Parts: sequence; C-alpha cells; structure tokens
Amino acid sequence: MPKVVFELDSTKSFTEQAIVGHNRWHPDIPAQVHVKPGDSFRVHCREWFDGAIHNDDSADDILNAPLAGVHVLSGPIAVEGAEPGDLLIVDILDIGPIPQEDSGPLSGQGWGYTGVFATRNGGGFLTEQFPDAYKVIWDFTGGVATSRHIPGVSFVGIQHPGLMGTAPSAELLARWNAREQALIDTNPTRVPPLALPPLPDSAILGSIPPGADFDRIAGEAARTAPPRENGGNQDIKNFTKGTRVFYPVFVDGANLSMGDLHFSQGDGEITFCGAIEIGGFMDLHVDLIKGGMATYGVGENAIFMPGITDPQYSQWLAFSGTSVTLGGEQRYLDSHLSYQRACLHAIDYLTSFGYSDIQAYMILGAAPIEGRLSGVVDIPNSCSTVYIPTAIFDFDVRPGAGGPHRIDPGMGVPHSPA
Ligand code: ZN
Repeated sequence: MPKVVFELDSTKSFTEQAIVGHNRWHPDIPAQVHVKPGDSFRVHCREWFDGAIHNDDSADDILNAPLAGVHVLSGPIAVEGAEPGDLLIVDILDIGPIPQEDSGPLSGQGWGYTGVFATRNGGGFLTEQFPDAYKVIWDFTGGVATSRHIPGVSFVGIQHPGLMGTAPSAELLARWNAREQALIDTNPTRVPPLALPPLPDSAILGSIPPGADFDRIAGEAARTAPPRENGGNQDIKNFTKGTRVFYPVFVDGANLSMGDLHFSQGDGEITFCGAIEIGGFMDLHVDLIKGGMATYGVGENAIFMPGITDPQYSQWLAFSGTSVTLGGEQRYLDSHLSYQRACLHAIDYLTSFGYSDIQAYMILGAAPIEGRLSGVVDIPNSCSTVYIPTAIFDFDVRPGAGGPHRIDPGMGVPHSPA
C-alpha cells in the first residue's frame, strides 16, 4: 500500500482532522501535502456531505442537506516542479470505499446513498417531475450494489472520483466569477439558481487561520459544484481504476485536490445528489509534462484516458428523446432537453414493470447507464439516447409478447415533501 499522505479519521468530522482539506477553489489555499513527480501515494476522501446523510429510511437529511459545506475535498497536493503551462499526469492506481469494517455510520462503510434534492436546493435533472427530496440506500456485497428501496436490481460498482482538479490561477478564478455572475444576473431570483456565487458561509480553507485573509479568500473562492477548466466536479463515471488524467497546471505546484467518490453512477449523474455517494480512498501516481499545455494544444481543459475496469455488459435496452418539450413545443437542437426526454421515456417504460417513477429515476442515476449524443445536426431535433444494461435486472426487462414481468416495489423510495 502506498504511503498515506492525506489521512482522515472516520470518527471525526472533516474540520477536526489532523490535516484539514477545503471546500472551495482558490489559488491562495495552501498545499497541505507535498509530493514529487514519480511518487505514488494514498489519499483518504470523505463523502461529499461529510457524513450528514444517514443509512435510514427517511429523506429528511437530503431535504436539509448542508449545501453550503460541499464538496469536502482532500488536498491541495503540491507537486514539486509543477509550473503554469505544464500538464500534470494523474494515474488512478486504485480506489475504493473506506478501508474499514462495514456497517459503520459513514457512507462508504459497506453502504452508500443516492439522493434527489428538492427544487429549492438545486433539484435534479428532472426536477419538474420530481420536486421533493428523495433518498435511496445501497448496500455493497462483493463489489455489487443492491438496495432495499429498489428490488430486482443489482450491478457491479465502477468506483471513481466525481471530483478531481488543479487549483485555478487568480486570473482564471476572476474569469469564473465574472462569467457566472453575469449568468446569474440574467435571472437572479430563479429557483433553482442559474449558478452558485462565492459563499463565505461554511467555507473550509485548509490551514488558513481565521482573520482578514480568510475572509478575503472565502469571499472570492469558487464553489465546487460546477466542472470547469481545472477539471473539478466532472462526474465522469469512467474515471475508474487505471484512469490517466492530464490536468492543466495554473499555479506553482499544481495544487491537486479530489473527493466526491462514487461507488457507481449513470452518465449525467441525473439525480444530482448524486451517484452512489461514498467516502473512501484513492491511490494515485503523479508526473509532469513540462510545458505540455502548449505542446499538445490542451488549452484550458483536462484530457484523460478512461479506466480499464468498465463493467462488462453485452446487451442494452436503449431509449431515445428529441428536443420537443413535454407540452409539444419544438426546440432547436436542444440536447439537454432531448436527454431529459430520453430519460423520461426510460422511466415510463420501467414503471410498466411495477416500479414507481422515482425508483426508475434512481436506477438511471446510480446504475452504469450510458448516455449519448446520437445526433446533434438534424434540424430542428437533437437526438439523445440512454442505454440501460439489461443484466442489472434480475428479470427479463425486454419487451415481449407476454407483457412485462411485475415486480413487488417493496417499501419504495423514502420521500420528504419540500
Ligand atoms: Zn457525487
């Protein structure tokens, strides 16, 4: 096992640890760990809500989730010799849930959760259809996820970090804040909001002590929810073991951070809160390509080679959607809308087997479904598709002359009205 450079004690909160991470992006958050090119090391990561979500049958904790405090990230990790313009090579050597006895209180100790936020907390991809808070608990046995809230479904975990990235430069951070505020200004009272401006409340900034510096950084630092040029919360389910990522370097040392581990996820993380959320560990190897951003024309976005542990599914049932609203209005090549329609078609289909619509939505968020932009040029309709592996169901989910097998939906999905 590589040396643990960022160690978390599962019995303590994120801010009570010997080494404190952060939950905002800012170039002035100091590195907590120093490594060299060629080093391999282990990092512990806390689940993104730092233990606020519990293994029970109520969605009240999702309804009241402490949103200002996300995502709790491990790092920053400075890589010796890294300078702006370099590419930082990050290999994911291994990744998994919390290395500890199962049945513990923290997500990752043998279990994880998928939630849907109430609309006022950001909702989810289908918040018009699902405006309340919902939660599903998944149990892990032999690397396979099952849920007491969704009978008849099981799948192999594809563990990956939802969030990993390098620190922005001051110039890049200023650009993020300016463009996101400009978007907010187009409709400042929208629910859910168009973007999340800097929020000093609940900011965790590593080892920076309280004082004027802390207040300045907390007032400028970017929230961690959106993916940006530094990688960040990209929620790419294929960042499994064996992944190699090439991150642009914007500050000396690169200042790499990571967190928001997932046991599994469907493309799009459509439930938003989120995939199957867990705490756990990552073993990483880092190296540098000096001047690599210009050499490879990478510009300001991470590139990557996906992991080598994709689940092996050979048969899929796929659903398509076009850019026409549920009300019948034609939209122009709107791929967001066509993916929503594809997902809604998949949900309608699964309810014919006895699932509730929220059970079907949770399956799409948590299981390793594939989402694709199948056509983006055929005016006026974009065509998006969502592929569901048939083998995740313990019954035949294909259409047939005999009609759908009816499942017993069981206790169903815990639900807390907003
Ligand atoms: Zn997540």
